Amino acid sequence: MSNLDKNLDRLRSSVPSLEIITEGDTLAEKSHDWWVRGRLQRKAGQLTRCGAVVRPADTAEVSALLAWAQETATAVVPFGLGSGVCGAVQTTQDQVVIDMSRMNKLVSVNDKSLTATVQPGMCGRDYEDALAAKGMTMGHFPQSIDLSTVGGWCATRAAGQLSTRYGNIEDMLLGCEVVIPGGKVIRIPEKARAATGPDLKHLFMGSEGTLGVFTELVFRIHPAAQLAKGRAYSLPSVEAGCESFRKIMRAGWTPAVTRLYDAQEAGRTFTIASEGQPVILLRSEGPAALVEVEMQACHDIIVAEGGQDQGEDPVDSWMGHRNSIPDVEDLIGKGISLDTIEVAIGWDRLAELFSKVCEGGIQIDGMLGFSGHVSHCYTQGANIYFTFAGSVASPEEGITLYDRAWNHTMQVTHDLGGTIAHHHGIGRVRKQWLPKELGEAQDVLATLKRALDPKGIMNPGALIDVDD
Ligand SMILES: Cc1cc2nc3c(=O)[nH]c(=O)nc-3n(C[C@H](O)[C@H](O)[C@H](O)COP(=O)(O)OP(=O)(O)OC[C@H]3O[C@@H](n4cnc5c(N)ncnc54)[C@H](O)[C@@H]3O)c2cc1C
Repeated sequence: MSNLDKNLDRLRSSVPSLEIITEGDTLAEKSHDWWVRGRLQRKAGQLTRCGAVVRPADTAEVSALLAWAQETATAVVPFGLGSGVCGAVQTTQDQVVIDMSRMNKLVSVNDKSLTATVQPGMCGRDYEDALAAKGMTMGHFPQSIDLSTVGGWCATRAAGQLSTRYGNIEDMLLGCEVVIPGGKVIRIPEKARAATGPDLKHLFMGSEGTLGVFTELVFRIHPAAQLAKGRAYSLPSVEAGCESFRKIMRAGWTPAVTRLYDAQEAGRTFTIASEGQPVILLRSEGPAALVEVEMQACHDIIVAEGGQDQGEDPVDSWMGHRNSIPDVEDLIGKGISLDTIEVAIGWDRLAELFSKVCEGGIQIDGMLGFSGHVSHCYTQGANIYFTFAGSVASPEEGITLYDRAWNHTMQVTHDLGGTIAHHHGIGRVRKQWLPKELGEAQDVLATLKRALDPKGIMNPGALIDVDD
């Protein structure tokens, strides 16, 4: 009998109601996330598999579980729907996955204060549908809305497609309940605003399951928009597109959708008159009067930068297909190594970062395409979401091409003063670059990790390694 089996017996007797799975397909399904490099590793024969999956039904069970994990020094890995793309979930036989899927209810909606209380394992689509039925929205629409949970959004600091109007997940989370190692339940209540010391919910946001388990979340919500309008434009260059968005943000407009595709991505995504040019998608939503004025003001700025009006169809078509997902497993099977990498930078270096990453990336041996789009804009700067794909003869070669593409993109982003992750997080794929990104602050994060998780039981291997 393994150590884990003995410890699981103890868990069974102390929490008899807890669902514990130790065999069957569930173990393989919940052992890893969506990470492409992990897929290539599995194709190359390197398997990841956890020792057990547990499914708590409520906060009390999560608390008992983390008390047991601390006592027995058993590593536990929170799991939403496994759509993370950075390898934050990559388990081993001695680890236990905490599958949050039974804690999946919309608890309450406060129509007057515009808040929603929800359990962390609720799928994003179910949550938005439940809000829509009440005439509300959270305004958070990641491409993976059908594949991810609200708890996963908070644990990774996610961003949705309408972020320029509604903000990112950190702008939406008002309060939360978290269970920390040892089983203590911490409640950070929702407030319209507070000046009560550091905002501790931010400690857990983006912690990727390494500091605690979210067991309840309170989000800001909005009445559904009165009107939405979209328009597309072709642009003479990526620089002209970046300038358009910079000026729109500087003027104080916040259209929900601000997307700029380089010519390569525009060519494979849209059928428009000006082929071979970058394309902007713009969509405003909110009170009808605001939408009309915002669309006209943005139109004037884009046209002044050389933009040509391409009508509403490309935006409608994108709205219809925006959550379609390529069959990555099939592409890997056909000898393609691929991924997406999102970074962010100030407006003064955005266009330079865009061209340096794409121009250098395409030089990598076997690379077939290296392209990008901007999809989240701020007054100070924007993200770039790069996509690369290369032809390889084996999974091992796929890993080599993959690592070169990532090394190149991370290096150029740091050299130009950008941030290495806009919304997918760190996981395992970016861990080696985090010390450079955080500088001295890396020690603060390590100290917090040691204080909250002295036995290192929470998702070891993800985000940060802490020396004993
Ligand atoms: C096709 C595709 C498109 C995507 N598009 C977007 C996008 O538009 N925007 C975006 O931001 N991301 C996107 N992602 C990435 C992914 O969907 C997000 O990172 C998402 O937030 C992960 O949610 P999940 O529930 O699947 O979490 P998981 O992958 O299960 O877990 C992610 C991390 O969160 C931790 N975790 C999960 N639940 C909890 C909890 N209750 N408490 C503590 N820690 C927890 C896990 O331990 C892990 O470290 C995309 C992914 C795919 C595959």
